[in-house]
Amino acid sequence: LARLYGPLTAISNVRVDVMTALVSFERVFEVLDLDPLVAEAPDARPVPTAPVRVEVDGVSFAYPSADEVSLRSLESTATGDRRGSGPILHEVSFTVEPGSLVALVGPSGAGKSTITSLVARLYDPTRGAVRVNGVDLRDATFASLQDVVGVVTQEAHLFHDTIRANLSYAAPEADEQQMEEALRAAQVWGLIESLPAGLDTVVGDRGHRLSGGEKQRLAIARLLLKGPGLVVLDEATAHLDSESEQAVQRALDAALEDRSALVIAHRLSTVRHADQILVVDGGRVVERGTHTELVGRGGLYADLYRTQFAEEAADLTA
Ligand code: ATP
Repeated sequence: LARLYGPLTAISNVRVDVMTALVSFERVFEVLDLDPLVAEAPDARPVPTAPVRVEVDGVSFAYPSADEVSLRSLESTATGDRRGSGPILHEVSFTVEPGSLVALVGPSGAGKSTITSLVARLYDPTRGAVRVNGVDLRDATFASLQDVVGVVTQEAHLFHDTIRANLSYAAPEADEQQMEEALRAAQVWGLIESLPAGLDTVVGDRGHRLSGGEKQRLAIARLLLKGPGLVVLDEATAHLDSESEQAVQRALDAALEDRSALVIAHRLSTVRHADQILVVDGGRVVERGTHTELVGRGGLYADLYRTQFAEEAADLTA
C-alpha cells in the first residue's frame, strides 16, 4: 500500500515531495498514466557512488507548461518549445566538490529551489548540463540516482505505516541495530523508545501524530540509513519551537557530515560553515564566495546578511 500511497501523496502536493517522488518515480507515472517529464535513457548508466562531485554547467531552465505535460501524456508530438514560465535560470554554473557544502541564498523566487530540483533530476535543463561524478544526469539510471542523492525538503512525508516500514522503504537491507543508530543520530530515538509499540508504532495522518520537528527528524534518520553521497537540503526550521529546532539542527549536522551537500540555507551557522555560498537573484548567480569574503564585498549578500540573518547574529553577539 505504501508504494501506491506514496506517489499519490507526492502528486497531490503542490510542491512535490522530492524524496517520495524520487523513491517511486516510475510508479508515480504508472499510477497516473502520464509520461514523466524526464525519462531514463535507453543506454543509461549508473552514477558512481561516493565521494560525490556535482557540476552544474551553464544551466538555463524554464518550467514546462501544463499544456506540454498533458500533450506529452497523449503522445502528441506538439511539444515544441512551449514553456510554462519564462526562463527561470540563466547560465548557472558551480561545482560541489566532494565532501563540501555549497549554500544557496537569495531573495524569495530567485530560483534556489529550481536549482535543487535540477540537481535531483526532477527536470532536465533547457540548456547546459548537470553532471554527478562525471555522468550527465540525462544519461544516468534512476536507480543509481536514488542511491547517490538524498533529498530533505521542508515537508517530510511519512507513509501511513509503522516507523520500521517507513525506514525499510528507504533502506530495505537495514537491520534493527542500524535503524536504532540512525534514529539516535537523528535525535529521535528517545521519542521512539517512549512509545509502547516502539518501532512498530504506526505514524501518519491516522496513526500516532508526530510534530513537524519529529517528522523531519524521522526523515533525516531515513536519509542516514540510505547513506547517499550527496544531500540536497531545503533548510527551513522557522516553524519549529527552539528545542525542536536545535534537535533538527543536530540531526542535520549528522546528515551532512562527510557528504557533499547543496543546501538552501536559512541559518547563519550554515552559511558561516559553507565552503561556498552562491547568491542567487533573478535566476542568476550574482555573487559567490565564503561568508567572510561576501560580507567584505558589501553587495547583495551583505544586505541579506543584515536582514535575513540579523536576529541570529545579534543572538550570537549578545
Ligand atoms: P523561495 O525562497 O521563496 O522558496 P526560490 O528562490 O526557491 O524561492 P523558486 O521556488 O526556485 O525560487 O522559484 C523561482 C521561480 O520559478 C519563481 O518565479 C516561481 O514562481 C517559479 N516556479 C517555481 N516552481 C514552478 C513550477 N513548478 N512551475 C512553474 N513555475 C515555477
